[in-house]
Amino acid sequence: MLLKIFQAGEPVLRQTARRLSREEILGSEIQGLIQLMQQTMYSAPGVGLAAPQIGENIQLAVIEDRSEYMLAIPKEELVKRERKPVPFHVIINPKITWQSEATASFFEGCLSTQGLIAYVPRSLEITVECLNERAEPVTIQARGWYARILQHEIQHLQGTLCVDHMLPRSLMTIENYMKYWKDKPIEDVLEELKIKHQSS
Ligand code: ZN
Repeated sequence: MLLKIFQAGEPVLRQTARRLSREEILGSEIQGLIQLMQQTMYSAPGVGLAAPQIGENIQLAVIEDRSEYMLAIPKEELVKRERKPVPFHVIINPKITWQSEATASFFEGCLSTQGLIAYVPRSLEITVECLNERAEPVTIQARGWYARILQHEIQHLQGTLCVDHMLPRSLMTIENYMKYWKDKPIEDVLEELKIKHQSS
């Protein structure tokens, strides 16, 4: 069974999600929900899915970046994004406890703004403290694309969407990104879109 993915404009995507207790995490309801979210993320396909996106106002997200998603992306693009496979895992009640001043900026999308992408600066490196699906405390140190995914999913739990952080003028359909911009150097893209951006 797949869950419905809520689109921007649904109130739940703008609320601060509530934290889960240890008992709730270990209970059958949340354990079942984690499985459904995993299937839904895989089927979308996406590299992350936060509970508010399926209408549940709770601090839970699933993440997995599969090697098969990288097959169609040129190696130099993967290197630039520092994108590597990330095994399936669950983050619950996450908190970003440290983030680098250094940023990386790339186009990114969201299953809740279907068909659209935007250019979003994010911290290059972060540290996250959270619980896993067994309610055990976990510290995650991440950089590159994985750090981007974590920031994106954690912001969903705070009622924030990636378009809130995009550089204005960068929003576009994925179709037009593929048609006009995908193969251009990013400096040219920014110039043609008339985007002012200080890269660091
Ligand atoms: Zn999203």
